[in-house]
Amino acid sequence: MTVQAFECRMCGHCCQGEGGIVLTDKDRGRLADHLSIGEDELVRRYARERGGKLHLICGDDGNCVFFDQGCGVHPGRPDICRAWPYFRGNLVDETSWEMVQEYCPGINPEAGHAEFVRQGRRYLRDEGLLRYDPDTSPNALICDD
Ligand code: SF4
Ligand code: SF4
Repeated sequence: MTVQAFECRMCGHCCQGEGGIVLTDKDRGRLADHLSIGEDELVRRYARERGGKLHLICGDDGNCVFFDQGCGVHPGRPDICRAWPYFRGNLVDETSWEMVQEYCPGINPEAGHAEFVRQGRRYLRDEGLLRYDPDTSPNALICDD
């Protein structure tokens, strides 16, 4: 039987602090639809440009503006939130995968890195989360193959 390499424990760590949540064009449309507002309003109220890319802002508590004991926009959340913890760094570097386990308790160390990579790649592919253009997409989602 295959051991599950990741199952979210809903601890909220990945939504806390300034997480660098990039908003791509696709994310913008989906999130605006979810909130029933226009994309211009979404950007004006909830995003700022940094390093040439739009990012979600933080709320008064310093966490993602949509975080409130969980993701407040879960069905409309950006791709980078959907992809975590299967970020490029955790897939290509076993040490990163080991270190990030302290931060994300949903990663199962028993599964091993190779299985994490196998399940992560399949998940990213099935969910359409692989990206190839670093100018428009989060670096964590850029893959070479
Ligand atoms: S850090 Fe990991 S376990 Fe915690 S909410 Fe995020 S994905 Fe889930
Ligand atoms: S959009 Fe949702 S999942 Fe993404 S960082 Fe904000 S609260 Fe967390």
